Amino acid sequence: MKKIAVLGSSGSIGQSTLAVVKSLSKRFKVVALSVDSDIVTLRQQIEEFRPRLVCVRDKYAAWKLKADVGSWTKVFCGQDGLQELVRDREIQQIMFAICGSAALGPLISAIKSGKDIALANKEALVMAGPVVMRLAKKYRVNILPVDSEQSAIWQSLAGAQVENVRQVYLTASGGPLRKLPADKFKNVTIEKVLRHPRWKMGKKITVDSATLMNKGLELLEAMFLFNLEARKIKILIHPEALIHSMVEFNDGVTMAQLSVTDMRIPIQYALSYPQRLPSELSGIDFYRLRKLHFEKPNLLKFPCLGLAYRAASELGTMPTVLNAANEESVNYFLNKKINFLTIPKIVEKVMRSHTKITNPGLIDIMAADSWAREEAKRIAG
Ligand code: MG
Repeated sequence: MKKIAVLGSSGSIGQSTLAVVKSLSKRFKVVALSVDSDIVTLRQQIEEFRPRLVCVRDKYAAWKLKADVGSWTKVFCGQDGLQELVRDREIQQIMFAICGSAALGPLISAIKSGKDIALANKEALVMAGPVVMRLAKKYRVNILPVDSEQSAIWQSLAGAQVENVRQVYLTASGGPLRKLPADKFKNVTIEKVLRHPRWKMGKKITVDSATLMNKGLELLEAMFLFNLEARKIKILIHPEALIHSMVEFNDGVTMAQLSVTDMRIPIQYALSYPQRLPSELSGIDFYRLRKLHFEKPNLLKFPCLGLAYRAASELGTMPTVLNAANEESVNYFLNKKINFLTIPKIVEKVMRSHTKITNPGLIDIMAADSWAREEAKRIAG
């Protein structure tokens, strides 16, 4: 029985993780949960999974929760509380399904306490990839990817040496705006952006899918996770989203991972690795499917992709800045303060005015992150 913590348990990945745990209740037990502010969902989850530890960001919400959960469940609060929670000795593996760069602090604490990580959050890795990977090596911690594309690369590599990789095809469904003409982008509404054709996900990542910044962040994520060079990673639009990525080796062999579009698959593999456990999900019906489609991404329509490649070739603090400026811009867009086309414009401006640090430590990264956020706010304002 593996004892796990699920951070960000009220979000889409968090809920899918709990569904996996529920279906394999003889193998996994939830000992800790955390949410940002959705204590209604958390309360239901406490009732169902009986975790010993929970954490909420807001002090007032924590206080309210304390009043009505039994003494069995200990309630932590805020970033400090979360960092304390992840160090609990009973926890063996932690699912990081927290959205955005807020995951970095707890992620580092978790690595330092030797816990294996199932990583669904991509921002922390984009922000501080080399630092995170160095720490993981030092503390002998496995970072198991949950993002479907990274899971596919991981599974396709199947233990092969990364030196033998000729190229990686990082697949993208193309997002909700794939078919929209470029001249309609300016006035595209939030509602349209949030209607993703293949994946049902949180708001931030769905906006990132529409700008294709999500793929840009995944490019950086793949570089750090697998120690790959940017030039070896090709973005491939694949609207059916059944091939979740492919690895071509230097002997001309390509390995691909295919499965139905359901996050429970990569979640379960990250939890069960190195084993494969049974699942109620079906495979792909190839007789019915008959065709798969591929195209090149349009960099003129989706400038965020070009910005991510630029950050990937510069590295240092540039990915940190790209991520921070993007997070702020997406927030502005979701709050209807800027239009859709302004997102890449802000990110580009912030990147242009950034003086890069080549081999940043954590302090340089935190400084670059908050500088980029202030700069993005200033430009948006
Ligand atoms: Mg993905």
